[in-house]
Amino acid sequence: MKISVIGTGYVWLIQTVWLAKIGFSIQAIDLFEDKIEKLKSGIPTIYENGLEALLQETMRNIHFTTDIASSAWSDIIFLCVGTPQDEEWKTDLTYIKQAGNDLKKTLIGNEIIVIKSTVPASTNAMMYELLGSKNPVVSNPEFLREWLAIEDFFTPDRVVLGFKDGEKHEVIDTLMEVYWYFSDKWVPILQTNWQTAELIKYAANAFLATKITFINEIARLSDSIWADINDVAKALWMDHRIGNKFLNAWIGYGGSCFPKDVKSLIHQFHEQGLGWDILTKVDETNTSQVDYFMKKVWNHYWTQLNGKTIWVFGVAFKPDTDDLRESKALVIINRLIKAWAMVQVFDYNAKALENFEKYTYGLATGIRNFIPIVISKTFLDMTKNADFLILTLEDKRVLDEDFDMIANNLKDKTIFDGKNILHKDVMKNLWFEYMWVGC
Ligand code: NAD
Repeated sequence: MKISVIGTGYVWLIQTVWLAKIGFSIQAIDLFEDKIEKLKSGIPTIYENGLEALLQETMRNIHFTTDIASSAWSDIIFLCVGTPQDEEWKTDLTYIKQAGNDLKKTLIGNEIIVIKSTVPASTNAMMYELLGSKNPVVSNPEFLREWLAIEDFFTPDRVVLGFKDGEKHEVIDTLMEVYWYFSDKWVPILQTNWQTAELIKYAANAFLATKITFINEIARLSDSIWADINDVAKALWMDHRIGNKFLNAWIGYGGSCFPKDVKSLIHQFHEQGLGWDILTKVDETNTSQVDYFMKKVWNHYWTQLNGKTIWVFGVAFKPDTDDLRESKALVIINRLIKAWAMVQVFDYNAKALENFEKYTYGLATGIRNFIPIVISKTFLDMTKNADFLILTLEDKRVLDEDFDMIANNLKDKTIFDGKNILHKDVMKNLWFEYMWVGC
């Protein structure tokens, strides 16, 4: 079977190597020559744990190219281009349409187009029409978690396939051939129609975002009445009806999916003339959660951060990824430098720090010229000459750091933990002033 993939970003680079690993020959197509050249030499364009080794192992099965015409005569063409949001919170389908227009000039036979990108209702139907209603179009949303993406590809919770009503058996069988790998692994494959598959992806992300926001909101009350949110969450986890995932009181969700997918779903409700108060509130509360957390900093320092050096641990939106998209750490760092504080940052992921360095070049130059942001090489390095610490990343490696030494380094011996990762009793025994989300 000949398979092509278009858009070798986070999702597709991983899916490409997964398909190549299970034995398929893949044409991996992207617009950008530099990305393709890098991939040809076995270097991933994104960081994901284990990806480099897997790419090098599977490269003989992958042909990297910028030539979209090479996808002609493929049995399946997977589309995984980005779908950001526009200024009105609507999903921006520019890349999807561009890829569709390019394909229109290319398709020769009965190539099946599979949309992996997260797209709102009717996009698969739009693509079918754009391609002249000749080629089958299938919706196959992706649920991977960056950081655990390779594991998620080999053992997903489910595969969702959305077909045009009355789709031919040959098309369904071809798709099932790709996912045959899961046939003896108890991975459910849900077959449904286009619009249902499209909605499943948004509903899943919106539900998880709502769970996170729920516990964040409970944390605010917990703060006011001096309850311990970590114990509240733990007791909720123990209830098997609730489950133990996505119930950590933190500084709010970020990343390339939840914020944009929640906003897109709100927009889709409006387009249908329906309001949706829960999600609108989720989005608002998530945005204000950073301010809520930062209030602890402002209250503690009487808003006087001028001249302070603050150590911020974590720049990516989650541990061991280089993805800074919608990272709450960036929001916090921006607030700090606007208050004329100096910032020292560290992240265990070296690629995340590289991306952060590039990001700082785009910061408001007026501020950037006066306030240096120091990128440290180690965790301990970062604490030197710092007044206090803000934790923005739930990376467990931090628990193995030498907090006796950190206590010596930090002038104010104060820690604001935005991810409730440290143990409050340990911190208090070391005489830190320790503040976290939820008390
Ligand atoms: P990305 O921005 O990392 O990658 C998109 C890629 O598409 C880029 O490499 C870009 O150069 C390429 N591209 C854009 N237009 C193209 C065209 N016309 N022809 C060829 N290549 C083109 O995006 P991503 O994070 O991989 O996400 C892709 C989609 O998958 C989005 O819809 C996203 O919502 C969804 N998704 C992402 C994740 C995630 O964790 N990142 C998880 C599940 C679903």
